[in-house]
Amino acid sequence: MGTITTVNPATGADIETYEELSQEDAKKKVDACHEAFSKWKLVSREDRAETIKGLGNALRDNKEELAQLMTEEVGKLIKDSRDEVELCAAICDYTAGCGPAELAPEPRDPSNAGRGIVTYEPIGVIYGIQPWNFPAYQVIRYAIANLMAGNGVLLKHASNCTGSGLMIEKIFRQGGLPENLFTVLVIGHDTSDEIIKHDKVRGVTLTGSDDAGRHIAEAAGKVLKPTVLELGSNDAYMVLEDADLDLAAKVCAQARLYNNGQTCINGKRFIVTEKVYDEFLEKFVARFEAVKTGDPTAADTDMGPMSRTDLRDDVHEQVEKSVANGAKIACGGKIPDGPGAFYPATVLTDVKPGQPAYDDEIFGPVASVIKAKDDDDAMRLANDSRYGLGGGILSKDEDRAIELASKHFDTGMVFINVYGVADPSMPFGGVKNSGYGREHGGLGMREFTNAKSIFVG
Ligand code: NDP
Repeated sequence: MGTITTVNPATGADIETYEELSQEDAKKKVDACHEAFSKWKLVSREDRAETIKGLGNALRDNKEELAQLMTEEVGKLIKDSRDEVELCAAICDYTAGCGPAELAPEPRDPSNAGRGIVTYEPIGVIYGIQPWNFPAYQVIRYAIANLMAGNGVLLKHASNCTGSGLMIEKIFRQGGLPENLFTVLVIGHDTSDEIIKHDKVRGVTLTGSDDAGRHIAEAAGKVLKPTVLELGSNDAYMVLEDADLDLAAKVCAQARLYNNGQTCINGKRFIVTEKVYDEFLEKFVARFEAVKTGDPTAADTDMGPMSRTDLRDDVHEQVEKSVANGAKIACGGKIPDGPGAFYPATVLTDVKPGQPAYDDEIFGPVASVIKAKDDDDAMRLANDSRYGLGGGILSKDEDRAIELASKHFDTGMVFINVYGVADPSMPFGGVKNSGYGREHGGLGMREFTNAKSIFVG
């Protein structure tokens, strides 16, 4: 049995050490979660919704304590941590509001029977493996949808935010969730593989890297269990010839730097048409140069540290390899002296295929600027990626942008003249190597349900 020590990425100081569960104890927790599920699935949709409303209130009651811990564990700006808890509470409210109707039985008129009914039944215990970049939101996104659907929920949180996962478990109990229905497993990867195999686990959902996605999907596939995967991306924001360039520079900088540059739907490649390239670049770089990096608990800090020093070092290696292959640094690009996982807001230009900045996801505050001949070329370059999670369009012609977004952009989400944010009413998920399945809203609630057809003669 190992231990997990969480570390404050702003200072490098240890926070807390947790003992991992043995396989045997982890399996006992799965059994207890299943026991709780067998009662919960019989609770009416309306009563489940009432409980979920209570979880939203409990999150609000504990906002400050949870926000402080998230900032300590992963280096988020304290303002962003507070906003994240508010978003989580809003997801509870939204799900409680529309859940009963989204999951209601649907009447049908089959030709071979008097009437038909389609019901959405819970399938059992759902195992979620979640990342550190939004320690509360990533958990709430799948947990609340599945609790509303009547499932039991297990969480293996990223080890560097173990404390946040355990605090959410405590808050849910305070909010009135039945015991064991939401259970945190403090475990390593080997035990996780055993949990996937456990016969009472009926579905697996992961948000994380594509490497983790391949491993989890393979493990679940071997035991024929459904998965939802929300993986990384190399999102492109296109600055078209008619874009408002002040707005474009502002939106693109926000799109890249939000959450210390560590969001799956952060803009990563900025594809700028030749006609507006020089003017856009000047405005964009000025915004990056003005970023104040430092203590994430200080009110006047724009950007905190990255979540771990090893991930910061990976980002720097990607920058160095890109430069060795022809990219140029317009600003940033140097690891600062001193403790912590800090990395400066960085802009790379002359980004081309064959460089990590073009080919791969850079999960940190590094923008890759790419020149396109014209709008058509920009669209071609935007789709030239193995990923397809989100993307952006900067243009004054909204109708044309919507047409490009719906018919031509090969992604699950498109943001027009605005940077990428999540909303509980909008499906969240990707295509290609960014994964499959959808979270949020009715689609999210139904991912792990049995759509049952009942024929009545
Ligand atoms: P990982 O994908 O390794 O980690 C995400 C989660 O998956 C964590 O809970 C991790 O647990 C878990 N995990 C990883 N491998 C396994 C496994 N074999 N079995 C069970 N659980 C596993 O991401 P990293 O933290 O290493 O970040 C690296 C990259 O992942 C980033 O650079 C970015 O590309 C991507 N990423 C994408 C996110 C997104 O929102 N789509 C969020 C975070 C990262 P543990 O902490 O114990 O390793």
